[in-house]
Amino acid sequence: MIPSVRNIYRKAGNVFLLLGTSLLLTSCYYMMDKGEDGPVEYMIAVHGGAGSMDAEMPEAMQQAYHAALRQALLAGEEVLKAGGTAVEAVEAAIRVMEDDSLFNAGKGAVYNADGQHELDASIMEGKFHTAGAVAGVRQVRNPITAARLVMTETPHVMLVGPGADAFALEMGMDPVDSSYFWTTRHRTRYQEALAKQGKKLGTVGAVARDRDGNLAAGTSTGGMAMKKYGRVGDSPVIGAGTWADNATCAVSCTGHGEYFIRYGVAHELSSLMEHRKWPLERAANHLVMQELKTMDASGGLIAVDTYGNIVMPFNTQGMFRGYVKEGQEPLTYIFK
Ligand code: ASP
Repeated sequence: MIPSVRNIYRKAGNVFLLLGTSLLLTSCYYMMDKGEDGPVEYMIAVHGGAGSMDAEMPEAMQQAYHAALRQALLAGEEVLKAGGTAVEAVEAAIRVMEDDSLFNAGKGAVYNADGQHELDASIMEGKFHTAGAVAGVRQVRNPITAARLVMTETPHVMLVGPGADAFALEMGMDPVDSSYFWTTRHRTRYQEALAKQGKKLGTVGAVARDRDGNLAAGTSTGGMAMKKYGRVGDSPVIGAGTWADNATCAVSCTGHGEYFIRYGVAHELSSLMEHRKWPLERAANHLVMQELKTMDASGGLIAVDTYGNIVMPFNTQGMFRGYVKEGQEPLTYIFK
């Protein structure tokens, strides 16, 4: 029997009703299961330092930086994808850059005026405002991990010099000999700098938001080339080079550290958002492109806010940087 047109419509209507109901029930179940506070999109951003980099940088060199940034992003993303915390992701991403001599952190740390390496790092999470930092370490391969251990294993926020080295070793971190930090590239730079008393900027950092909506930030550096023995920059200073607050943002800075300390840049970003109710982008641009720029303070920052917005402003020729959001491909940049 050939069904009448009316019957076909009725049957199709029933199928749609059934589909609609099951769709509604599935979404109800999903909402009940996860609640309104269910998982949010995760994301991570990294920087590898801002500075006056040569726009004529050889293509191969540029590609090497892009690849290194991508590797750091993927390391952080892997943690977030598996449900890890923002702090764990930040640490993982920074460790990759610390192990890569392209960056001025860990292995690639610059020489100070005495021909030595003194490394600084800090990390902070935005839920409870816990933080850890080390400054002037000489025997630690991954200062960001030492900073995380200060945060989780001690009642303190910052350890410096030989005490910080000793603590890291007590915690089971492998000591490295000073020769580990000798890289031909920086050695040559050091000799050139000795001659010219030049300055070199460069540092690594990461900011992340995990699936629970928690924010974290971390920064690691060899400091400024030819810095005075004992000099500490903004990178290990909570509120200057690093800051995280779930209510506002997580931020990692890079640039002329003394200015970032004097103007408490990382915390100032959070304050502008909290007290002036400025969105992340406005606050970040104001600080980097106006406040710092008028003082001739070169540098930049990367930041992520509660809503998952990412900003990466800098007032220098370039800043090695990139980010990846859940389900997307990592994007990396060097120049404007
Ligand atoms: N901010 C770092 C410092 O002053 C250097 C940099 O970011 O390039 O130690």
